[in-house]
Amino acid sequence: MTALSKLRNIGISAHIDSGKTTLTERILYYSGRIHKTREVKGDDGGATMDFMDLERERGITIQSACTQVKWNGHTINVIDTPGHVDFTVEVERSLRVLDGAVLVLCAVGGVQSQSLTVDRQMKRYGVPRITFINKMDRTGADPFKVTAQIEDKLKVTPVPLQYPMGAETEFQGVIDLIDMQAVYFEGPNGEEVVRKEIPAEFADEAAAARTKMLETLSLFDDALMVTLLEEAAPEADHVRKIIREATLSQEITPVMMGTAFKNKGVQELLDGCTAFLPSPLDCDVVAQDLSNINESGRGEPIRLSTEEGDPLVTMAFKTVLEQFGQLTFCRVYQGQIKKGGTYINARTGRKVRFGRLLRMHANDREEIDVAGPGDIVAVVGVDCATGDTFCGDGAEIALENIFVPEAVLRLSVEPLTQGGGDRMGKALERFRREDPTFRVLSDPETGETIIAGMGQLHLEVYVERMRREYNVDVLVGEPKVAYRESPTKEVRFNFRHRKQTGGSGQYAHVVGRLRPIAEEDSEETFRFVNEVSQGRIPKEYIPAVEQGFKRAIEKGPLCETEVVGAEFVLEDGSFHEVDSSEMAFKTCGFNCAREHLRKAGMTLLEPIMKLEIEAPDEYQGPICGHVSSKRGLINSTEAQYGSTVILAEVPLAEMFDYANELRSMTQGKGQFSMEFLKYKQTPKNVQAEVVERRRMEREERMAMA
Ligand code: GDP
Repeated sequence: MTALSKLRNIGISAHIDSGKTTLTERILYYSGRIHKTREVKGDDGGATMDFMDLERERGITIQSACTQVKWNGHTINVIDTPGHVDFTVEVERSLRVLDGAVLVLCAVGGVQSQSLTVDRQMKRYGVPRITFINKMDRTGADPFKVTAQIEDKLKVTPVPLQYPMGAETEFQGVIDLIDMQAVYFEGPNGEEVVRKEIPAEFADEAAAARTKMLETLSLFDDALMVTLLEEAAPEADHVRKIIREATLSQEITPVMMGTAFKNKGVQELLDGCTAFLPSPLDCDVVAQDLSNINESGRGEPIRLSTEEGDPLVTMAFKTVLEQFGQLTFCRVYQGQIKKGGTYINARTGRKVRFGRLLRMHANDREEIDVAGPGDIVAVVGVDCATGDTFCGDGAEIALENIFVPEAVLRLSVEPLTQGGGDRMGKALERFRREDPTFRVLSDPETGETIIAGMGQLHLEVYVERMRREYNVDVLVGEPKVAYRESPTKEVRFNFRHRKQTGGSGQYAHVVGRLRPIAEEDSEETFRFVNEVSQGRIPKEYIPAVEQGFKRAIEKGPLCETEVVGAEFVLEDGSFHEVDSSEMAFKTCGFNCAREHLRKAGMTLLEPIMKLEIEAPDEYQGPICGHVSSKRGLINSTEAQYGSTVILAEVPLAEMFDYANELRSMTQGKGQFSMEFLKYKQTPKNVQAEVVERRRMEREERMAMA
């Protein structure tokens, strides 16, 4: 096993098309993992990391693959994170298990919306990062502009460690500002890194860039400040140490540059990863101690250790179904996983045997016997869900679960062939388990199966996977926005449930109030407050009432969508010695909530998306007008190199055909990306329309059923 200090778990994150896949491919090539470079959209089977057929066709990476490379005496686990926003959860998941990351930016496009999203996620998980400015060979490449954007938009101090020798077609290589050498990438595929004296034409600029780098770094290190004041030359190793420390504390991001496609700069970036990104030893991992539950029902925080001999703590961060069973990717945080070992799933309490351990390289795998802290391995044939923690004897620990974004779009699906229902069920169960943002619901009245997710592409991919992997063709309904409903005024209730059928009857009675959750920014969707005194309702029935309320808010009175922001206060009630039961109180709570939600001034909430559009300047007017006509709000427009970037907020309901609309409006020259921002109240007229449409659809369905 590699010494822990020489292990790096890194992710590569980027806006789509920044060159992340190409870069990963080059990393595999230069580190000797593969022997030939391939292009992403080439005809020789596509890049190694995109191993799903579908990904190959679409040219995007949907599932993050994990692979291990050796570099400079270090072991680097590279997790290829997806770039498309619809798959943000995959990015979140991989960030959870990473120690450091490379943020790839395009030298022309710079910091784009998705880079912002990814950056936010990295901050949330405290992941230190190196920025790689790719595509230095492209027309319009401007690393200085991109560096300024890092400071402006990402609010982190960029420290360029390199100075470009030329740009666009003239890009020759980089100047290493720490060792003050020119670095060239020679040979047919740039495999020979050649260091030379800095050419005279770049000498002054490079010297100025080095001074700037050192000045910035001196803000983080007093000794360097003194050295600079004395006009002495700092030691290269000292400079590296400062960069490493400031990177780990996330005060700076080192900036490196090159072109993956033209084979320049990648090896230097790998050196940068080993020099400046953290090892598992540098990361503090805090989990919940389930043997020590506090008042709020959570485990007390516990710091995990990388000491030898501690019990295992590992998290399943990704599951993939294969022909021979489930493949579960695990990151070890503490202790060791051993082949044949038995571990406890902290969520289910069940013991599971880890029969086979694998180290993954894109689609190849190597059998291993043991894995320690910091390792990322795959376990074969273990049944579990994403986010589960497994513990060895002596540990009862859960790593906090990952943040799961909202599912804003729904699609009804129906198998087209006889016998397809079973296979569809299996497929959906599998997808649901692999992807926490993918939800499966069924409508008890119509029997319809509904899938919900984060966007059109997200759901389309699953429909396509059903077709390919499970051989079920499905009829897909119109995509539907996942609206929500929320009460706006308080209503009192005094509700009795009574039923007399032959022998024993049912009796339950509840009194209280239903009101909107007061705090506007509260993320709570449901709140239950028990104010019943002196056993007016026996204690054992109170949870039943709560369950009844909870069931009722699954379908609101407006559109049968989820109710959010509702608080139920149970004040009083009564019971009957013989006829009261849990069941009776549950039914009572349910019927009471159903009836009173109707009177609570329900308002419809709709998902608002953050939209980023890029198109040639001349289309700016029409695009903005069009967005406004969709009830959109333009936040900013920014021109760069003849193209305009427009940032806006638009209701998802208006965006279903946007890809086509934008294409025809811009003659195919416009691009956009979209991501969920927030739920917001719909205007009254829109609410009325939606409610009416849903009512008609419901009637139609009922008539057909
Ligand atoms: P991803 O979507 O971020 O994974 O990006 P890809 O690696 O799929 O690259 C997107 C497109 O950009 C492909 O057509 C690549 O060939 C191209 N590309 C990647 N790196 C470079 C580069 O350094 N220079 C240029 N000019 N094109 C690049």
